[in-house]
Amino acid sequence: MKGLVFNIQRYTLHDGPGIRTEVFLKGCPLSCRWCSNPESQCSLREVGVYASRCIGMGACGACLRSCPVDSCIGFHADKRISGVDREKCIACMRCAAACPSGAIKPWGRKMSVEEVMEEVRRDISFYESSGGGITVSGGEPMLQSDFTAELLRTCKKEGIGTCVETTMFTQWKTAAKVLAHSDLVISDIKTMNDKVHRKHTGVSNKTILGNLKRVSEMRKDLILRIPLIPGINDDDENINATADFICRELGGMPIHMQILEFMHLGGEKCVSLGRTYPMEGQTIDREALHERALVIRDRFLSRDIKCIVGNE
Ligand code: SF4
Ligand code: SF4
Repeated sequence: MKGLVFNIQRYTLHDGPGIRTEVFLKGCPLSCRWCSNPESQCSLREVGVYASRCIGMGACGACLRSCPVDSCIGFHADKRISGVDREKCIACMRCAAACPSGAIKPWGRKMSVEEVMEEVRRDISFYESSGGGITVSGGEPMLQSDFTAELLRTCKKEGIGTCVETTMFTQWKTAAKVLAHSDLVISDIKTMNDKVHRKHTGVSNKTILGNLKRVSEMRKDLILRIPLIPGINDDDENINATADFICRELGGMPIHMQILEFMHLGGEKCVSLGRTYPMEGQTIDREALHERALVIRDRFLSRDIKCIVGNE
């Protein structure tokens, strides 16, 4: 069995306890405008193009020589790569393999569970000393649920702690298959307002909220996150509705809430993928956003819901 993996990051500290290896899977059913990993969204392999790293067609041209498709790679007037024609590109990744400067990045590699495990096992001693393990993230790991479940099951069998970071936008029977092998679930409540949720993520929040309720009924360890986006979900009405949902429907049971202040992390990656960045031009008053995050944290604390801002 193989999964489509776009990154494996060792020594991560923020997605679950202790030192972890994080495995990022490609494909997501949501299209959040603020996504910091837009390279995760498409379920197919893609190339990312970073023109500023290109040393120029005149000096190099390795990508052009290696590409089997006519007129697929374009260049600026200054001879640096401008992009690839995504209609024509067959994602063979030959250009990325040939590029000497990292100007072309391959997003998505088919890997077996055993190949991923070889990476994961390299840090077993760190997991043991820190209480860490593996976190499977994305994208949405439930889109590759058989692969994710098998990866987590193998880790559990070898005594490695497990965590899944998920949108919970999936059928419950799919979620249950994965959760059976996961010690911890990390998930977002982006907004309680379904209309706003649909507008900014492309999907309804009803399935997500229903699944979170079932996670809490399983008494599964759960960390809930709010990606705090000014003007979208930082209003009192939404925060109060979120606290009400946690108290009434989840029995106040997440280990903690975590408020993550929005940062423009997805912009350069969107451009590299030939897409328009949906948050382009939105300026952020970082100080005001942080102040608001602290107020929201205190609001949750006043409802007896543990809450942190960032990774404090
Ligand atoms: S991935 Fe393959 S087809 Fe696409 S631009 Fe690169 S070499 Fe050409
Ligand atoms: S192989 Fe890389 S450095 Fe060379 S021309 Fe192509 S993008 Fe530029």
